[in-house]
Amino acid sequence: MGLLTFKGGIHPDDGKELSKNKPIKDILPKGDMVFPLSQHIGAPAVPLVGKGDYVFAGQKIAEAGGFVSANIHSSVSGTVKAVEPRITVSGVKVNSIVIENDHEYKEADSAYSVDMEKLSKEEIRNRIKEAGIVGMGGAGFPTHVKLSPKEDDKIDFVIINCAECEPYLTSDYRRMMEEPEKIIGGLEIILRLFPNAKGVLGIEDNKPDCIKILSELVKGNGKIEVKSLKTKYPQGAERQLIYATTGRSINSSMLPADAGCVVNNADTVVAVYRAVAEGKPLNERIVTVTGNAIKDPMNFRVKTGMNYSELIEAAGGFKEKPAKLISGGPMMGVALFNLDIPITKTSSALLCLTEDEVAESKPSPCINCGRCVSVCPGRVLPTRLASCAERHDSEAFLKLHGMECCECGCCSYVCPAKIQLAQSIKSMRRMILDSRKKK
Ligand code: SF4
Ligand code: SF4
Repeated sequence: MGLLTFKGGIHPDDGKELSKNKPIKDILPKGDMVFPLSQHIGAPAVPLVGKGDYVFAGQKIAEAGGFVSANIHSSVSGTVKAVEPRITVSGVKVNSIVIENDHEYKEADSAYSVDMEKLSKEEIRNRIKEAGIVGMGGAGFPTHVKLSPKEDDKIDFVIINCAECEPYLTSDYRRMMEEPEKIIGGLEIILRLFPNAKGVLGIEDNKPDCIKILSELVKGNGKIEVKSLKTKYPQGAERQLIYATTGRSINSSMLPADAGCVVNNADTVVAVYRAVAEGKPLNERIVTVTGNAIKDPMNFRVKTGMNYSELIEAAGGFKEKPAKLISGGPMMGVALFNLDIPITKTSSALLCLTEDEVAESKPSPCINCGRCVSVCPGRVLPTRLASCAERHDSEAFLKLHGMECCECGCCSYVCPAKIQLAQSIKSMRRMILDSRKKK
């Protein structure tokens, strides 16, 4: 039998060798801490503290501002300096709580008992909600909402995305190597919510060591299975992962739950474990700092709210001037123009690329080679969609199934004419989604 996969996709240079063998290193912040009130999909959180208040590490400092929203917790002890707009990864200012770190890391009292075996489904969901957990793979969708489908018993698969298919990123790899039991522990907690579900860990076959470790851990566990996936980008995209691991298909108007699936990434599942078993909120994460412009690529365990620029210092600084800085991976990450921004729950990596790695060139006219169509995992026509986007023709864009694009960037990557197809399509999709939200 061939390896599990999906149709389309690409095989970019993965660049993972720079940091994959660097064990997770804990680092502490130096400067002020900044906690944007909007670092998740949904309504911004509402501040619970004001200027002059003393806060403890782990204290809830902002409360979910709606059903689809998430609590925010401080990662340090110290004094609130301000609640004011600060620049974030997206380049826009977001209202944020600024805390002067006293470097004592005095912990807030935890009201949790550790006897998790007795917890009801409702209590498990409440702990996840209280801990402010959101999808840490980049999307930032509140996890307690994702884990509350209409009917629990219609969920057949809880899929854990351990693919880490984005080039350069190694934070999930290190998690799997160093804390595999927490991934399994988190998955077992989630499985308690869905009585008919099986757990599936989807791992690309370029990580045989992770496949081995996790397979050994679940040996004899009839409810959890490790599935080896073909190494191909974007193997970890939600729709592609569901298809590869279960053979089920969903489209843009369906939720994974409509196909009997719930999908979470490896880091999010560890956050679930920490919240439910240890009573810890989501206020730290693993961040890969890598790229050929950085002296000592690393995987750091960092506190949320810490400044991105401190990551560069911790990784030995630049060995040459970076041509491009990206938050996240090279395919779906966000280009940064300023490093004076805070690390949030969804910051997976800081990529510092050299001129050679960026290799930018000017777009030229389309030569109708068809490569963009052949790699598109959304099975749409990137050229025609990009042309609709340029004309702002949303009607034609929708007729051509533009919303089935998963914004993976494969089309732009293979285009010999260097046309930024994905960028145009993405802008059009965002515009349509925004106008739907307003309606
Ligand atoms: S059109 Fe969308 S789904 Fe298809 S390759 Fe381009 S970015 Fe990916
Ligand atoms: S890959 Fe580029 S050049 Fe080829 S058909 Fe698509 S847009 Fe045109």
